[in-house]
Amino acid sequence: MIHLQCIACGKKYNENKIIYYCKQCGDLLEVKYNYETLKEKLKKSNWRSLPLSVWRYTPLMPIHDPSKTITLNEGGTGLHQCKRLGKLLKIKHLYVKNEGENPTGSFKDRGMTVGVTKAIELNMKIVICASTGNTAASLAAYAAKAALQCIVLIPSGKIAYGKLAQAMIYGAKVVQVKGNFDQALKIVLELSEKHKKIYLLNSINPFRIEGQKSLAYEICDQLKGKAPDKVIVPVGNAGNISAIWKGLSDFHQLNLTSNLPQMIGIQAEGAAPIAQAVKEGSNSVIPIGQPETVATAIRIGAPLSWKKAMRAIKESKGTAETVTDQEILEAQRILARHEGLFVEPASASSIAGLKKLAELGRVDADDTTVCVVTGHGLKDPDIIMQTCEKPVEIEAEIEPILEYLGLSKPLAPIAAQ
Ligand SMILES: [Zn+2]
Repeated sequence: MIHLQCIACGKKYNENKIIYYCKQCGDLLEVKYNYETLKEKLKKSNWRSLPLSVWRYTPLMPIHDPSKTITLNEGGTGLHQCKRLGKLLKIKHLYVKNEGENPTGSFKDRGMTVGVTKAIELNMKIVICASTGNTAASLAAYAAKAALQCIVLIPSGKIAYGKLAQAMIYGAKVVQVKGNFDQALKIVLELSEKHKKIYLLNSINPFRIEGQKSLAYEICDQLKGKAPDKVIVPVGNAGNISAIWKGLSDFHQLNLTSNLPQMIGIQAEGAAPIAQAVKEGSNSVIPIGQPETVATAIRIGAPLSWKKAMRAIKESKGTAETVTDQEILEAQRILARHEGLFVEPASASSIAGLKKLAELGRVDADDTTVCVVTGHGLKDPDIIMQTCEKPVEIEAEIEPILEYLGLSKPLAPIAAQ
């Protein structure tokens, strides 16, 4: 009832075949289900009584033995209603889905719990990925839990320290490649093709996307069975926007929601091949040789899942937009200071994108709008030290501290109650 299918030529493959792209035309694969079977499975399951998490949706996941699941309690992240930020941006019903609340601090855990469980089902011994950081951190954690060896390739010098530290402490073999992400990805793809016990867990692996689609299921459940009007997502390699759209479409086809949102992808100006193509009305993406942005998690010039992302944007009648590094860092600050949510720069691009689209009048104030923020701010503390005012150093005495704080004048007496 589950099979893999090429998104371009439609060729079908057995779900247990270890394959990352179509052997006939070279395009991406996706997991396909029979929706009637899924409806039956859901009917028999007690999923509605389970807590919000990736595995609440086990009947919709491509896993056969739930007892072998490799889990760190992923998913179940907050959908925060943002009244203060909404007021600032003039959006009445604004929500932020905070994926930094996942076990390793990013949305990648949703895909890895499914991907690594699949690696166990397929009897693989080594898992590998190329990563700008979050994928490496997540894969390393799940590999540790599953007792699998883990190899990660990262672009030299372009990774946030928090993420590198995570991959290192979880025991992954970390290799810095003198090149960019796109080059590192090419190498891991070749390695996993050559060595049959090495399982590739970049988002080219269709099972990763299956875990990530739970993000959309959760949003619909958190909005009490109603899909939002707009979902705004940071776009790097473009797997997540594709996964979220797949999840929203699943719920719609299973009659669990009655509406479908518009998908809006946001890219950093220096790494925006998809947004460029969407703006030009083109059906293909021209890769960028030297992508540059402060938002390292979306610093990708040749997005692997561009075709799936373009399909999501087109099918949902959505759009894509670019934001500058300055707009990203400003959005990071306003989200933290209005809502108490600290996210990494790439995550803040969805907020920056909403701000820009709202100012351009391209988002309706009455729309229920969900911004997805993908990773925790502590993953990249360096950028904060560069952009925020540093704390001053003052003698350990009360007077100079009061003076600095502007509280040295006597306070007005408290009015009688
Ligand atoms: Zn094909």
